[in-house]
Amino acid sequence: MKNIAIIGGGISGLFSAYFLHKSGYKVSVYESSKIGVECSYGNAGLTVPSHFEALANPGVLKKGLKWMLNPNSPFFLKPRFDMDLIKWIIRFNSFCTKKNVENNKYFLRDISLYSTSLYKDLMNSTDFDFDYKNTGLLMLCKEEKTLKEEEHLIKEANELGLKGRILNQDDLKQLEPNASFDVLGAAYYEDDGRVQPYDLIIAIKNYLEKEGVVFKEDCTIKDINISNVKIDSIVDNNNNVYYADEFIFTAGVYTSNIAKKFNLNIPMQGGKGFSFKVDKNDALNFTTPMILAEEKVAITPYDSYVNFAGTMMICGEDKSIVQRRVNNIRNASNNYINGLDIKENQMDDLWAGLRPCSPDGIPYIGRSKELSNLIIATGHAMIGISLGPATGKIVTSLINEEKPDLDIEKMNLYRF
Ligand SMILES: Cc1cc2nc3c(=O)[nH]c(=O)nc-3n(C[C@H](O)[C@H](O)[C@H](O)COP(=O)(O)OP(=O)(O)OC[C@H]3O[C@@H](n4cnc5c(N)ncnc54)[C@H](O)[C@@H]3O)c2cc1C
Repeated sequence: MKNIAIIGGGISGLFSAYFLHKSGYKVSVYESSKIGVECSYGNAGLTVPSHFEALANPGVLKKGLKWMLNPNSPFFLKPRFDMDLIKWIIRFNSFCTKKNVENNKYFLRDISLYSTSLYKDLMNSTDFDFDYKNTGLLMLCKEEKTLKEEEHLIKEANELGLKGRILNQDDLKQLEPNASFDVLGAAYYEDDGRVQPYDLIIAIKNYLEKEGVVFKEDCTIKDINISNVKIDSIVDNNNNVYYADEFIFTAGVYTSNIAKKFNLNIPMQGGKGFSFKVDKNDALNFTTPMILAEEKVAITPYDSYVNFAGTMMICGEDKSIVQRRVNNIRNASNNYINGLDIKENQMDDLWAGLRPCSPDGIPYIGRSKELSNLIIATGHAMIGISLGPATGKIVTSLINEEKPDLDIEKMNLYRF
C-alpha cells in the first residue's frame, strides 16, 4: 500500500485525503496551522455551477480602473513593486477577454456540475454528516444595467444547460416570503447550493482520523529532499523528515512559492476577502444564499446565523483585516435587505482569507513532469469549496494512474 503525503489541510487537501483513503492508500496530512483555518474557513460556502465565467473576464477589466480609483470598491489591487505581481497583472489582463470566457465556460460548467454531483452522492454516504443544500443562488440587482447583464448571463446559462431565470419583485417575494429586499429584481441560478465549509472539513477530518489517517498540525513543510528525479522526503520547521511514495501539494496561495523549489512556475496571487457572521433576526429570515450583484457581497444563510463575505484585494500574502472594507460589506448588506441594520458589535468571527488566484482564473491540477511522484492541486480562486470533491477525485485518479472523469488539460501545470 502506497504512502501518500498531503501538504496543506484546506478543502483541497481534505477531499484529496478522503478519496485517497477510500482508494486504500495510507495518507498523512501536513498543515502549517490548524486544519481548515486558512482560506477554507470563513468563505461563503457556495457551490456554484453558475460561475461558468472565469475570474479573468472582460467585465473585470472594464470596471478595473474605476474600482482601482475607488477605495470602497469590491475589487482592489494594492500597488507594490514585485516582479511576480507585475507579471501576474500583465497575464491576468491578457486573459480578461471574451475569448478566455468562451474557452473556459464549458470546462468550468462541467467541473462544477461534476463536483455538485459528488456533493450530492456524499450526502447519501454514512462516512460523515455535513450540511449541503441545493438552495439555488440569487444575484440581487439594484440597477437596471446590472439586471440586463444578468438577463444575458441567465440566457447563456440556459444555453449551457443550467437552470435559471430572472425574478421580478413578486417572484422574489414568493421565493422568500419572510424577507424583503430593496432591489429591482434578481437572477436565480437553481443548480447552485451551499455548505458550511469549516464544519464540512472538520467532519471529514474526524472521520479520517478514526480511520487511521495521520494529521500533523503546526507543521510547516519548508524543504524537500530529491533523489533520482523523485521527492524522497519533506522537512518541516522543526527539521523533522517525513518519507512517502507520493507527495501532493494543496497549500493554497502558498503553493506558488513552494513550487519554485521544483522549478515549476505556477503564478498565483492572494485575492484577499473578508467575512463575518450575524445571528439570525427578523430581517435575515431567508433561506436562499445571495450575491449583491453591484457590490459583489455573498450572503449565506445557515440555521442560526448568516455569513457575509466579500472583497477581492490582490495583496500578496498579507492577511490583515481592513476594517473599512469590512464595513463596506456591512453597509452594502444593510442597503439591499430591508430592515437590516447590522451594528459593529453584532459582527462575529471577523475573518480574512487569501483566495489562490491564477492569472486565467483556472485551477492548477496535475502531475509534475520533472519529479515523478509530485502532484499539485491549487489555484481555485473563488470556487475552491465548490470544486472540493472534484479536486479530491481528480487527484486520486492521478495517483491511481487512471483517466480522470473529465478532461483536465485546462488545469495543466505547464500552461505559463
Ligand atoms: C471571502 C471569500 C469568499 C469565498 N467564497 C467562496 C464560495 O462561496 N465558494 C467557493 O467555492 N469558494 C469560495 N472562496 C474560495 C475558497 O475559499 C478557496 O478557493 C478555497 O478555500 C481554497 O482551498 P485550498 O484548500 O486550496 O486552500 P487553503 O484552504 O488555503 O488551504 C491550504 C492550506 O495549506 C497550508 N499550508 C500552506 N503552506 C504550507 C506548508 N509549507 N506546509 C504545510 N501546510 C501549508 C495552509 O496553512 C492552508 O491551511 C471564497 C474565498 C474568500 C476569501
